Amino acid sequence: MQDDNPFEILPGDHGRGMVLLGDHATNRVPPAYGKLGLPDYAFARHIAYDIGVEGLTRRLSALLDVPAVLSRFSRLLIDPNRGEDDPTLIMKISDGAIIPGNHPITDAEWQHRLETYHRPYHRAVSQTIDTVAAQSGRAPLILSMHSYTPAWRDVPRPWHAAVLWDTDDRAAVPLLERLRAPGDLLVGDNEPYDGALRGDTLYRHCMVTGMPHALLEVRQDLIGDDSGIEAWAQRLAPIFEHINADASLHQYHIFPSRTGPYPA
Ligand SMILES: [Zn+2]
Repeated sequence: MQDDNPFEILPGDHGRGMVLLGDHATNRVPPAYGKLGLPDYAFARHIAYDIGVEGLTRRLSALLDVPAVLSRFSRLLIDPNRGEDDPTLIMKISDGAIIPGNHPITDAEWQHRLETYHRPYHRAVSQTIDTVAAQSGRAPLILSMHSYTPAWRDVPRPWHAAVLWDTDDRAAVPLLERLRAPGDLLVGDNEPYDGALRGDTLYRHCMVTGMPHALLEVRQDLIGDDSGIEAWAQRLAPIFEHINADASLHQYHIFPSRTGPYPA
């Protein structure tokens, strides 16, 4: 049976007050799109998905007994971590070359991908957060899992992991502190990217609503196989558990975004 569900919800105890997200968990493109005109190797690379994130999120969900929402379509089809009005929502170019399946694209096809993949994923995220909020009786902690390449344009990235955030520091600061505490990791604070991105997943589901959150990036070579995933899951689970145990964090508090005023 062909399963075209644009998301997967991993089970967990909704009463624990935590939700994990994997926006870029998969390199899957529905069969009707073929390879979007790209060579096979494009789908083994970061441009198609966040390597290691699916496995890491599954292990963390199991270890912590918390639900997680994973996307089931490649960011090459439509990027779940971009707002609907972001011009990079459907990428035209990859590695300096046009993506034939994405450009040119009709308005109808743009709408179709929004309605068939992007919006159902975000509805699943909203519904999962709402269920956890209702069953835990508090504002859930949302942790979004990503990975990044060890180098960008031939410049090596020294950080093992990075915490990205806008202005809500409730989860980001303790996450940074706990990751840095053992002294064996170089952890980026809004490096190599800035976590303030208008319309992205955490903006929509956390900044606007006042939900405590952070985005964690792990360098993809560290979680590229099962043993790396297991090591990172074992490292992260107690840190997530510790942050989640802080009752003062589980409150709705809307922080002003560095990207400007919220939409009315
Ligand atoms: Zn990502």
